[in-house]
Amino acid sequence: MKFGTKAIHAGVHPDPTTGAIMTPIYQTSTYVQRSPGDHKGFEYSRTHNPTRTQLQNALAALDNGKHGLAFASGMAATDCVVKLLKPGDEVISTNDLYGGSYRIFTKVYEPLGIKFHFVPMHDMAAVREKVNERTRMIWVETPTNPLLNVIDIAAASAVAKEAGALLVVDNTFSTPYLQTPLELGADIVAYSLTKYMAGHSDTVMGALVYNDDQLHERLSFYQNACGGTPGPQDCFLVLRGLKTLHIRMQRHCENGRKIAEFLKAHPKVGKVYWPGFADHPNHEVAAKQMNDFGGMISFVLEGDRKEDAVAVLEKFELFSLAESLGGVESLSGHPATMTHASIPAEERRKAGLSDSLIRLSVGIEDADDLIEDLRQAIG
Ligand SMILES: *Cc1c(COP(=O)(O)O)cnc(C)c1O
Repeated sequence: MKFGTKAIHAGVHPDPTTGAIMTPIYQTSTYVQRSPGDHKGFEYSRTHNPTRTQLQNALAALDNGKHGLAFASGMAATDCVVKLLKPGDEVISTNDLYGGSYRIFTKVYEPLGIKFHFVPMHDMAAVREKVNERTRMIWVETPTNPLLNVIDIAAASAVAKEAGALLVVDNTFSTPYLQTPLELGADIVAYSLTKYMAGHSDTVMGALVYNDDQLHERLSFYQNACGGTPGPQDCFLVLRGLKTLHIRMQRHCENGRKIAEFLKAHPKVGKVYWPGFADHPNHEVAAKQMNDFGGMISFVLEGDRKEDAVAVLEKFELFSLAESLGGVESLSGHPATMTHASIPAEERRKAGLSDSLIRLSVGIEDADDLIEDLRQAIG
């Protein structure tokens, strides 16, 4: 089955009792048993809920994976994965990681004895350098946020396999429409569903997708034991969002290309970060592992002054200044003061994250209007 058909049909079935074509919102905490232990597969909604089950099946299908697990947020999904580790274990990740992931790694798990290394992962030699006998996990996010570096998933998988470590790929920016990491050798795919997957800026949720049954035993145990599960109404919203994922992504990518090219040609714009450019340092990897290049673009202004960036952000009319990304509406952001404020200034500098950097999440409006907004704001 091709992607667009799967986005609409995979993993979901008409409701068995009524025939409702859309998965009902099973707004219930518990389920009546006929006799002790004699039930229909549902006992308590932290453990299982039919709306969540259908979402989890749909998510697994889209990534060509066997198992899916949904969580109350992307961070709850991340948290569940790190619980696979124990004190003394080491993780290698990228140095321009999503700020919230950096925060949970360094502020929650490092004090518990897990060690994290942050390296520029688009250079696989930098990853190899940190591998030792305690390496248990390699955590990739690609394209990275906000510099849109592209990390070679297949190459990372080779390093992980050699080290006997799990490869986790945060696929939030790409979605399975652009890349399916399990097929490139990843063990676990992690999502903030809040972004492109739900796609309408109306819910916060996360997910994991993977193939391995033993991994499923442990991760589903943590999902239930720790309880970071989403409610059925949110699951319904993501199920609804997924049905247009392919159409939305197609438009995000088309608009992204037009805007990246507009910015590149603009005399007041400095460096533009977008993996679709032939001169992007990781363009070849992007072209190899992705179906298209997405709608996330970052750029700096000529002169690289923070106050100029702030002035542009204040002038935007369509690109709303807001945290988050991946919704139908275009958003703008200032990573140094917003999404990446939790990364120390020194680390930000090392990662090449300038204080004048503007990040765009290009929505699915008409590209001409978006370009007009950029034109008036940049001046
Ligand atoms: C937003 C985001 C997360 C965290 O997800 P939440 O749903 O906000 O908890 C993780 N990784 C990436 C790349 C993100 O953009």
